[in-house]
Order: sequence, then structure tokens, then C-alpha cells
Amino acid sequence: MTTELVEGIGLLVTDEGELRDAALVIDDGVIAWIGASSKAPAADIRIDVDGACVIPGFVDSHAHLMFAGDRTAEFEARMSGQKYAAGGIRSTVAATRAASDEELLANATRLVGELRAGGTTTFEIKSGYGLTVVDEARALRLAQTLTGETTYLGAHVVPAEYADDVAGYVDLVTGPMLDAAAPHAKWIDVFCETGAFDVDQARAILVAGRERGLGLRMHSGQLGESGGVRLAVEIGAASVDHCTFLSDADVDALAAGSTVATLLPGAEFSTRQPYPDARRLLDAGVTVALATDCNPGSSFTTSMSFCIAVAVREMGMTPAEALRAATAGGAAALGRDDIGSIALGKRADLAILRAPSYVHLAYRPGVPLIAQTLNS
Ligand SMILES: [Zn+2]
Repeated sequence: MTTELVEGIGLLVTDEGELRDAALVIDDGVIAWIGASSKAPAADIRIDVDGACVIPGFVDSHAHLMFAGDRTAEFEARMSGQKYAAGGIRSTVAATRAASDEELLANATRLVGELRAGGTTTFEIKSGYGLTVVDEARALRLAQTLTGETTYLGAHVVPAEYADDVAGYVDLVTGPMLDAAAPHAKWIDVFCETGAFDVDQARAILVAGRERGLGLRMHSGQLGESGGVRLAVEIGAASVDHCTFLSDADVDALAAGSTVATLLPGAEFSTRQPYPDARRLLDAGVTVALATDCNPGSSFTTSMSFCIAVAVREMGMTPAEALRAATAGGAAALGRDDIGSIALGKRADLAILRAPSYVHLAYRPGVPLIAQTLNS
């Protein structure tokens, strides 16, 4: 096996704290040694990062990359003060259904390239713009070629053809669509919100997914309090995502349970909504993750650095807390203990910064600071 020595690390962010003038050894994709640069052992390959800060690769646990079409005009209208007109998501559904496999995969692959260039080494991809048996299965089959973290989101929105028969659509999502999607998915997700799926429908959808061996995730608390957050904790979801509107009972439930609260500040940025209060969650002892929610309607960013900058500026997180949420937090949200931090035995997924400290991710917003990623 080839061993690699990464040396000359000005600041190394590890599980056990921050080390200066550090080095680490990678053996077959796994971190095998961490210590002072001056004491580094020999290795087959040496990589000198010349004083840079090295952090864990970002883990983006929430991304909707499998779509076609463009919604620039909708964003422009929203930012110009025009009232949001419903139907944007349905335009993405129509474009996605009409796209070829090659078009869908090419678009997602381009976005994955952005993620990687931005320091992300693990990412999730959801379906949810097909909303038919064939189109949901197709999205997941294509997503599987890009990541192991694939999520079936047939319950993203009720498609137009089921507008008068939501119960019928839930039957489809928990029946034939689940049968077609499950072989290509690791997770099942549901958008539990007023105007989308209610708590009883969300429960039925998640239980059906669990019976097929899928892990559970939820969208909730984006537009208001809905009871979805407490359902997520009660049912043992790995993560409940958005968490912008939370009651005290929601926060208490999250603190007492093991469900990660994943915050998606790109959505609030792009819809001009109030940001979630990360400080309240952290002070209550809740595990918090940050993710991009990359999608063409409400958060068209692939930049975890951007999410960190917003979290620090607007959501009450320290730079260290935001980095942790974007790495270890995302790993927890995906139920992964092999990634998300720099520690012996973990996968050597690293981002090398063009900066002496990770604080620059928030201090220098909008500046591309990822020099290189190493992906085991
Ligand atoms: Zn989402």
C-alpha cells in the first residue's frame, strides 16, 4: 500500500483540537498518523501544503441535484419585490420529466464538480422532481452513479395531476413508487409542512420507507411550526432539515433525542426569510449540521463556505461551531462515523485551504479559499 505524508500544515483541525505545524499520514485512504511536522514518519509520497490550514472535507447532507430547467427569472422577480407566485417547483418537475438521462446526469455532474471544487468530499442527492414511478426511480438510479448517499423524496410536493387527491398520491409514494425507488436509495425524506404533507401523511411515508430498509430524513420547520420536528425525533429520523421555525417543545425534543437539526441558510438567503437560530439549538445541546440545500428554486448554491459565512454572520455560530456543523454535523446527519473529522482511523477526506485559518471561511466571504481536496 502507498502511504502519503501531508506536511507543513500551519493549522490542522482535528477531533481533539487544533494543532499547529502539524502533519498527517494517510495509509490506503485512512488517517494513520497525526502529529508534529518535525516528528513525521517517512512515507512513499510527500505533500507539502506550505503553512496552509487543513480541515475535514465538507459533508453536504442535503442537496437536490437531479433536475433540469432554469428558474433565474423567478429569483430575479422575488428579489425585485414581486410576490412569489406558486408553481416554480412544478416548472422544474416538467423540465425534469422532459429531460433525457444524459441531460440530467450532465447537470448533476456539473454541480458535483462545483461541490468538490468548493471543498465538499461527501454529498447527498435527493430525487423529488420526477414525482412519477418512472421518473423518481430514474433520478435515483442516476444519482447512485455520483454518490452512495441517495434519498428518495417522492413526497417533495403533490404533483399537479394529484392536486385533488393527496391521499391517492401518498398511496403511490408508499406503494409502487417506493418499490421502484428503494433499490436505488439509502434514505427516504418527506416535506412535512403546511401546504405540503401533514404529520400523519409524513409518518405513513416514513414508516413505509423504514419497512423497506431506508433511513429516515425530513424537511420541516421551513415556513412555520408544523409538528414535523417532533415527529422526526419520535420516529428516529437521522436528521430534520430547515428548523427555521421551532417551538420550545421542538427544541426540547431535539435536545432529548438523537436527530440532527440541519440548517440550510442558503434557503433563507434566497427567499429573504429570517435565518434559523443556531445559537438556541447549540445552547440546548442539539447536534447541528449545515448544508447547502442546493436546488434551482430556493437555494441555488453549492458552496458550503457560503453557508458557513452566513451561519457565523447571521445565525449566532462561532467559526469553529460552523465548521464543525459543516463537517462532523453533516456526517452525523448521514449517520456516518467514518467521515467528518480528522482522527486516526477515519477516512482521509481533507480540504486544504488557501488560508492560514478556517476562520477565513467566514472572514473572507465569497473568496474561493479551497486550494485542493483529498478524497479517500
Ligand atoms: Zn431541501
